[in-house]
Amino acid sequence: MTQKRHPQTLAIRGGKAQTEYLEHNQALFLTSSFMWESAEHAEALFAKKVKGFTYTRTANPTIAAFEERISALEGAERSVATSTGMSAIQAAFFTFLKAGDHVVSSRNLFGTTAGFINGVVTKFGIEVTLVSQTDLSEWQAAVKENTKLFFLETPSNPLGEVADLRALSEMAHAVGALLVVDNSLMSPVGQQPLALGADISVQSATKAIDGHGRVMGGVLSGSEELMGQVAVYCNSCGLAMSPFNAWNLLSGVETLSVRMEKQFANALQVAQWLQTHAQVKAVYYAGLPEHPQADLVAKQQNGGGIVIGFEVENQEKAWSVINRAELFSRTANLGDVRSTITHPWTTTHGRMSPEDKLAANIRPGLVRLSVGLEYADDLIADLQRALA
Ligand SMILES: *Cc1c(COP(=O)(O)O)cnc(C)c1O
Repeated sequence: MTQKRHPQTLAIRGGKAQTEYLEHNQALFLTSSFMWESAEHAEALFAKKVKGFTYTRTANPTIAAFEERISALEGAERSVATSTGMSAIQAAFFTFLKAGDHVVSSRNLFGTTAGFINGVVTKFGIEVTLVSQTDLSEWQAAVKENTKLFFLETPSNPLGEVADLRALSEMAHAVGALLVVDNSLMSPVGQQPLALGADISVQSATKAIDGHGRVMGGVLSGSEELMGQVAVYCNSCGLAMSPFNAWNLLSGVETLSVRMEKQFANALQVAQWLQTHAQVKAVYYAGLPEHPQADLVAKQQNGGGIVIGFEVENQEKAWSVINRAELFSRTANLGDVRSTITHPWTTTHGRMSPEDKLAANIRPGLVRLSVGLEYADDLIADLQRALA
């Protein structure tokens, strides 16, 4: 008799391929292909009459274990792992779209995703309309007869603007479109897009799921039906995750819940301290009680996440804070156990024109933090010194 287990237990104990050696940790199956007992066995495997593995681009036990544990956390029937977050986003678009289709997407996107949508997707005769992260009427007005997909990430990075997933899923489904949500910033511990009506949750596993800045990976989660199609696309286009990366990411999955709970708490403490600092003009963090969408945040998120934006006088001051920080790493990675600090105006958002940046409220004095697992008072002391 097995009782129904909590996702957190399944993230540690679920989806393991056990060999005859009774290894305690998930084994790393570092092999590109698998052998067959006989020609008959091979025929049965290829015809999918028996379960098993043939070739790692298609499926591999270590990658399958990772996918199963992500499914437990996302509340998904099935997940498909890919080489990077960007290949997961590519699969979410091109599995389901063809020339002549139309996409409605939030304007507030991770820089490479914005480049992919504007520079690659549109090359294949797929039309895209960019709309506000928060104004539902803009989404409604953008919908057309050929709209097949809604795309967004929430909360936005680094300003913490929250998109209403329940409302957008209803709007998408009313016109037969899929809602695809990039959940990289919250991870399934902070937000479960599928439970809020999204069809696909996609993430960069490079970020919070790894959590230790080691390897790259991506993963899509959803229904068996949709993920079956995604798996075919990924196999055809060769987007597979490396088994070595899946093996590393499995240890990330095992500690994801505790890491995120503590990092969200640290982030809230840092954000609230920043609010009291005389040199800080504004603090953007989805977990603050004063957040303009606090009711929506409470409804769809478990906590405010790990990313904080805060504004100082100008670029000179922002650079001085960044250069004087000793504990915060000067790097763009997010979701790591090590806290990081960046200047969006000249790095993550550097490719946008100054006008576009200002329209998106990205100003030269804005600093972005990703809050890690260090002791919160030490992070605050570091910022205090850097701001002085
Ligand atoms: C990093 C990131 C991606 C891209 O993931 P990679 O693993 O770097 O390819 C996509 N979306 C968001 C929100 C990200 O932060």
